[in-house]
Amino acid sequence: MKSLDQLNYHHTYADLGSSLSSRVDPTPLHAPYLIHTNHRLATKLGIDIKSADNEVLTQLLSGQGILDSWSPIAMKYTGHQFGQYNPDLGDGRGLLLTEFVDDTGNKWDLHLKGSGQTPYSRGADGRAVIRSSVREYLVSAAMDGLGIPTTQALALSGAKTPVQRENIESAATLLRVAPSHVRFGHFEYLFYSGQHTEIQALADYIIHWHMPELEDLNDKYAAFFQQVTKSTATMIAHWQVYGFCHGVMNTDNMSILGLTFDYGPFAFLDTYLSKHICNHSDYSGRYAFHQQPGIGQWNLSALGYALSSLIDSKQIEASLQAYSSHIQAEYRRLMRARFGFTTERENDPELINSCLDLMEKLGLDFHFTLRILSETGPNNWSDAELNNSLNKPEFTTWLRDYEKRILLDYQNDHERQKAMQGVNPKYILRTHLAQETIQQVENGQFDILDTWLAVLANPFIEHSCPSHWSLPPRSDQKGICLSCSS
Ligand code: AMP
Ligand code: MG
Repeated sequence: MKSLDQLNYHHTYADLGSSLSSRVDPTPLHAPYLIHTNHRLATKLGIDIKSADNEVLTQLLSGQGILDSWSPIAMKYTGHQFGQYNPDLGDGRGLLLTEFVDDTGNKWDLHLKGSGQTPYSRGADGRAVIRSSVREYLVSAAMDGLGIPTTQALALSGAKTPVQRENIESAATLLRVAPSHVRFGHFEYLFYSGQHTEIQALADYIIHWHMPELEDLNDKYAAFFQQVTKSTATMIAHWQVYGFCHGVMNTDNMSILGLTFDYGPFAFLDTYLSKHICNHSDYSGRYAFHQQPGIGQWNLSALGYALSSLIDSKQIEASLQAYSSHIQAEYRRLMRARFGFTTERENDPELINSCLDLMEKLGLDFHFTLRILSETGPNNWSDAELNNSLNKPEFTTWLRDYEKRILLDYQNDHERQKAMQGVNPKYILRTHLAQETIQQVENGQFDILDTWLAVLANPFIEHSCPSHWSLPPRSDQKGICLSCSS
C-alpha cells in the first residue's frame, strides 16, 4: 500500500496533445469536508488512505489543493445528445486530476467531478451538489457489487459553497476512478473537427493501455471497434438483466471501455415496467428501459462513423451486427442464471418472458419477486407469506411450468435456491432509499454510507441494516422522477 504522495503518477492523456484537453486547476470550495471514502476501493487500488493526515486528504480529495506531480486537465470531447450532434461539450465541471499506474501495471484515472468551471462549462457553474454526488457515490458501488462494469468512486466531499439549482443546494465533489475516461464523444470530436491523424493516435493510445492483446494485429482498428461493441453489449445486457435504467445515453456518456459512465437520473426498476423512463427530461422516451439495447447500437454506429477513416465500412457493419447477437446471448445467459437454470433449453426465453410479462401486468416488484422465487420452493409458493407476489392466481400456471423446468436442472430444490440467491440481490439501491440516504447525509449522518457500502459490496447476502432496505417501496414512495439537473 502506498500513500497518495507515493503513487506512480503519469499524464499519458495530456501527452496526446493540447487539442484533446485544457490545463485547468480545480477551483477551491468554501470549507470543504470529507463525507466518505471507499476503503475497499482504496485497498484494491493499493492506496493507503487510512493512515493519511485527514486535513491533507480532504484537501487532495476535494480539489482544495493538488500535488506537484499532478497536472489537472479538462478533457475535450463532443457527442450526440438525444440524437443531435453537439460540438461544444467537454469536461464542464470535472477534471482529470492525474493518472497513476498501480503495482500490477494497470493505469487509473483520478477524476474530480464538481471541481469548478473549465473552458467547456458553457456558462454553467462547474459544480456538483450533494444529492447527485451521493447517488453517484452509492450507485458506483452498487453496480460493482452486482458485477456490472462501472466507473468507481473513491471519495465524496461536501462544502459550504452554495450552488443554485431548482433550489440553493450545497456543493459537493466526487472523486471518480476508472482505467480511462475516454468516451465515444472523444472520437466524434476528432472526426467532426477534421483531426484524422489524432483519431489514429487516440485509438493507438486506448489499445496500448487497455487492449494490448490487439497491438500486433494487422487489422487492429477493426478489432478495436469490435472490442468496443462487445464490451458495450456486455454492459447493456447486464443493465437489462438487473433493471438498470441509465437515463442519459448520449454518446458523450458512453465509455470506450464499456463501463457504466456519468450517472445522472439513473434508476433501478422497482415495479417491472419494460418501458420505464427514469429521466424527467426525456420527453420522447428515447432512453426508456426497453430502448437501451437499441440505443447502444445507435451510439456504436455514431462511433463507427467517427472511425470510418481507420476501418473498412464492411468491418464496422459486421461488428454492429455482432453486437445484436452478443447482447442477446449475454442477456439470455444472465437471465437464465437469475431464474436458476444451469442448462440451456429451447423454451427458456419464453418462460422467462412470460414471467416478466406477468410481473408487468400484475405490477409486481422486479427484484423482490425474483428474490422471493429464490428463497422459496414449490411447497410454499402458494403461501400468503409471500407478500402478494407469487401467490396470485395468475401465477399458478407459470409456477407449474417453472417447477417442471427446474426439475431438469436440480434434484434438490435447496441447490436451486442457493444458486439463485447468489445472483438475485436481496438489496437494491432503489431511488427512494437513495433519497432517504441523501437526507441523512445532508443532516450529517455520514455513517449510513458505511452500512450502504457494506451492503452494496455483496447485496446477495443478509446484512444488519434497516429492514426496509430489502423491501419494495410503499406506494407513496414510488414514482420519484429525476431530471438531469445535478
Ligand atoms: P451530463 O448531462 O452530466 O453528461 O453533462 C453534459 C455536459 O454538460 C458535459 O459537458 C458536462 O461537463 C456539462 N455540465 C453538466 N453540468 C454542468 C455544470 N454544473 N457546470 C458546467 N458544466 C456542466
Ligand atoms: Mg456527461
